[in-house]
Amino acid sequence: MITNEIKNIYKRNKICLQLLKNELFYLYKNGIGGENMNSKKALIFNIQKFSIHDGPGIRTIVFFKGCPLRCLWCSNPESQKNDIEITWDASKCISCKQCIKTCPQGAIYEKNGIKAINKNRCIICKRCTEICPKKAFDTEGEYKTIDEVMSEVLKDIDFYEESGGGVTLSGGEVLYQADFAIELLKELNKYGIHRAAETTGFTSHDIFKKFIENVDLLLFDMKHYDTQKHEQGTGVNNDLIIENMKAAVDRGKDIIARIPVIPNFNNSLRDAEKFSDLLNKIGIKKVNLLPFHQFGQKKYKLLQREYEMENVPQLHPEDLTDYKKVFINNGFDCKI
Ligand code: SF4
Ligand code: SF4
Repeated sequence: MITNEIKNIYKRNKICLQLLKNELFYLYKNGIGGENMNSKKALIFNIQKFSIHDGPGIRTIVFFKGCPLRCLWCSNPESQKNDIEITWDASKCISCKQCIKTCPQGAIYEKNGIKAINKNRCIICKRCTEICPKKAFDTEGEYKTIDEVMSEVLKDIDFYEESGGGVTLSGGEVLYQADFAIELLKELNKYGIHRAAETTGFTSHDIFKKFIENVDLLLFDMKHYDTQKHEQGTGVNNDLIIENMKAAVDRGKDIIARIPVIPNFNNSLRDAEKFSDLLNKIGIKKVNLLPFHQFGQKKYKLLQREYEMENVPQLHPEDLTDYKKVFINNGFDCKI
């Protein structure tokens, strides 16, 4: 029991330290007033075409890399750090050791037959990705200009028009690179493209207000109604998030609250009642429920990171039938 408690304290402190580092980096990049020093490029980790989720119609999703939260169940761990990262796939490796010989920093070493990267030494020169005959190394994240992103999303403009779709900015947390995101949203508007954004809302009020002026639909994450539980699950409390939610409602924005339903965190019927109470108070009437899944598990291995939810069973839509009913009974338009 005592050992488990010590482990939990260690884990909590590790998350707090990481968040502190994130915040310092965020302030360095954005300043207190939110002026990004490098608004010309953003770190993007994926541009996904033909999505039928994350907003109406056929959509292109632009995934921004970097997030101030550290949700324990995150299924996109490659989205968390606002840095290019090197991944390594053990299943492809034939142990030729070319990578170890080639790395100019001596950052790659072998431990129990597994290649590990000393991240303090790695300078992301990408030589390991070029030398590996089996392409076991790869990178996550690429800096892109507005023009580069636009040229990609404009390829499907006919599909957006025919299907009532558009473009969704997601992440990571899109507000981590807010200046670029606002510029991109303005550019999309010039072409009459519907603009959605998935966000945690964890940013200053000033940045948030500027951002939502340029968004047609907000997919607003809501992880927990209780501020302490929110902090335990994500590393930050929800005070700022709820204030920004209220600000979005006051401005008449179209909002869908998205609740990731996580076992032993927020999946009881009492939790559903409490979420309903809070959302009713805030004035949001549309809810999407996202059952916990394990699709991101392999990515933690590729990134050589610990995954705390490894053995937690997945939830399926049929597991949330009663949970959903609570929202319906409280007057919500609720979908799974
Ligand atoms: S170069 Fe590729 S295949 Fe060879 S040891 Fe390194 S990771 Fe494995
Ligand atoms: S990116 Fe460069 S420095 Fe980093 S591990 Fe690969 S070869 Fe070494």
